[in-house]
Order: sequence, then structure tokens, then C-alpha cells
Amino acid sequence: MPSTEPAPVDPRPRVSPVDGVFGVDGYRCAACAYPVAIAVAVCPSCQGPVEPARFGPDGTVWSSTVLRIPVPGRPAPYVVAYVDLHGGPRVLAHVGGDRHLPVGTPVRLTAPGPGGDVTVSTR
Ligand SMILES: [Zn+2]
Repeated sequence: MPSTEPAPVDPRPRVSPVDGVFGVDGYRCAACAYPVAIAVAVCPSCQGPVEPARFGPDGTVWSSTVLRIPVPGRPAPYVVAYVDLHGGPRVLAHVGGDRHLPVGTPVRLTAPGPGGDVTVSTR
């Protein structure tokens, strides 16, 4: 019997290329300029109106870790990092390789990974 549950909403930010440069298609508060990487109805900081904004491609690693437990479609080890996009929001991104990136490492958005993972590489 098919499930009657609604499909879960994909919480990952949308990354798209413009002239070959990848960026996050997010939102910025029209009142306080707070940046948001995902669709929101109002600003999470001041509840003001939001408008579309584009962030990236460059950012800096805020934190990263190596995950050593495989999950379907993700053979271990793999690396994820929280990245502060310059002038934009903090996003969770996948990183190639099997070593964590030190805090402050400059990175750049690349083509999204399988299924839409936000992905960065070192610059
Ligand atoms: Zn705001």
C-alpha cells in the first residue's frame, strides 16, 4: 500500500550556475539584510519581508568533520563542512577527500553533488 505521508521537503539550499559560477539562490531580509539560504516566509531575525538574493561562490570554513559511518549512497569516509558564504548565510556543504578542512580555509561552491548536495572545493 502506498504511503499517504507527504514527501519530506528537501532542506538543502539550491545551488545554480550563472555564467559558469555557482551560487546559492537564497533570500535576504529587506529590513535588516539578514541572509537566509533556504526559502522562508519572513526574516528569521526580525520577521521582516524577504527578497531573493544570490550568495557565493566564495566562502570560509566555519567547521568541518570527517564522517566515518556509511549511509546509503554515501560511502565512508566523507567530509562535510559548515561554510560561511562571503556576505551570506552559513551552509552545510560536502567536501571531496577524506580529511577535515581547518577553520578559516577558503572554499568555493562547485556543481551540486548527487541529489542536490551543496558542494565546495578548496580555492
Ligand atoms: Zn530581518
